[in-house]
Amino acid sequence: MSPPSHPTSILILGSGAFGLSTALALTARPCFTNTRITLLDRSPFPSPDGSSIDTSRIIRADYSDPSYASLAASAQSLWRQQGPSELGGEGRYSECGLVLVADKGRQGERYVQESLENVRKISGQEGEGTIRELKNRKEIDEAVGTGGGSGDWGYVNTSSGWADAEEGMKWMRRRAEATNRISFVVGEATSLLKNGNKVLGATLKDGSTLKAEFTIVATGAWTGKLIDLRGRATATGQVLCYLDLTEQEQERLGKMPVLLNMSTGMFIIPPKNRVLKIARHSYGYANPVSIPHPSPSPSPSSSGERIEVSVPRTALDDKQLWVPREGELACRQALREMIPELGERKFSKSKICWYTDTPSGDFLIDYHPEHEGLFLATGGSGHGYKFLPVIGERIVDVVEGKHGGWEGVERELRGKWKWREEKVDKVVTEDGSRGGRPGMVLDEELRKGIYRA
Ligand SMILES: Cc1cc2nc3c(=O)[nH]c(=O)nc-3n(C[C@H](O)[C@H](O)[C@H](O)COP(=O)(O)OP(=O)(O)OC[C@H]3O[C@@H](n4cnc5c(N)ncnc54)[C@H](O)[C@@H]3O)c2cc1C
Repeated sequence: MSPPSHPTSILILGSGAFGLSTALALTARPCFTNTRITLLDRSPFPSPDGSSIDTSRIIRADYSDPSYASLAASAQSLWRQQGPSELGGEGRYSECGLVLVADKGRQGERYVQESLENVRKISGQEGEGTIRELKNRKEIDEAVGTGGGSGDWGYVNTSSGWADAEEGMKWMRRRAEATNRISFVVGEATSLLKNGNKVLGATLKDGSTLKAEFTIVATGAWTGKLIDLRGRATATGQVLCYLDLTEQEQERLGKMPVLLNMSTGMFIIPPKNRVLKIARHSYGYANPVSIPHPSPSPSPSSSGERIEVSVPRTALDDKQLWVPREGELACRQALREMIPELGERKFSKSKICWYTDTPSGDFLIDYHPEHEGLFLATGGSGHGYKFLPVIGERIVDVVEGKHGGWEGVERELRGKWKWREEKVDKVVTEDGSRGGRPGMVLDEELRKGIYRA
């Protein structure tokens, strides 16, 4: 499909990291100076169950893939800007270092090895200084400094860190509001509005419609409800557990590095406001439900047809939702290992947060091949937040067909983000970084009971 030339109106569905940054980037492009831009989200901002809203997200250029490593490094240079009005200011970004480890001989080891090579190239140094190999568990424990650790091989990169995810999003929202170019609308899109194969906007839950010449769908893990993404992307639920700390513990642990084990997927991000988070970057849980066929296909055969897709289930759907027992036990075990002094501390809160997973872990940023006026900006695959300051610009480059100007290894991203013709039977993200086991279903795990200890 060809890019719109000077469209009169653009509707963006979803105000997470992908949608919000896209809206902001559009306001700065001459091609869209006279375009009416509408940003719709089903929740008032900040969306309480959006993936981009949380206490923290890891900001790292530590990728096994050189093209993501390079893009992440350029995002990170913006996170590092620390003035009060800049993205990384007022505590929105902390460069505490990252200890990236693996269990020798297990999945994740290769990811860490390749990541080490990439960040060494990026930092232009050969293994000393800000990046140091950790050859055994003792060296890992010393680098972590909590009396515990994880894995048995890895490295520390003192130039990685973490962001206060919600505050980062609020910063960007303020910038977007300041342009006076975007209409922010609260409402849930229930389907795409179409005429034949042309998409004309969206129908909302209250029956109203929002019409636009061009529609960008950035609804994260909910996208499968609006567009048939079977075999291309799916929602997977990830476990997070939180615990309260004393002031002294906050003071001490606030200075620890991020610790991420690529074999188990378990990670800890330094605490803020006396809350510590432990979570698992994993294959996750599927939540399969039967929904009306969402494709805007004009084919009569698809009318009335239902399909099964995994969609998020969050605390907005079920206030009592607590992570399944196996997920909590994984967090408990990791906590005992990573910070032994807190090993038995009760979790004060838990959450299931939803990835939009693709088979390769690549984003899905492209025109829909069959529907005019429809573009997708999704597929975050559990690693999209760090790109907040650069992803909107890249998305709009693809919209405008300007990705030819991307430089170096980042040129490869265009191919990685394309709508794939081939579908897989079942989407399981194999990017070499996932812990847990594939194939878990949320309801089945919940039926085994919750632990809540
Ligand atoms: C537990 C967890 C840990 C993560 N850790 C990291 C990390 O350390 N580093 C990192 O870089 N990334 C991380 N990620 C990934 C990152 O958070 C996501 O890739 C990124 O936030 C995705 O942004 P998004 O805009 O695609 O989705 P979202 O932020 O989920 O935004 C989608 C928006 O669409 C709205 N919406 C949905 N359906 C509709 C509808 N029908 N109508 C209107 N609005 C709708 C939702 O309310 C939501 O606000 C993590 C993700 C999770 C879940």
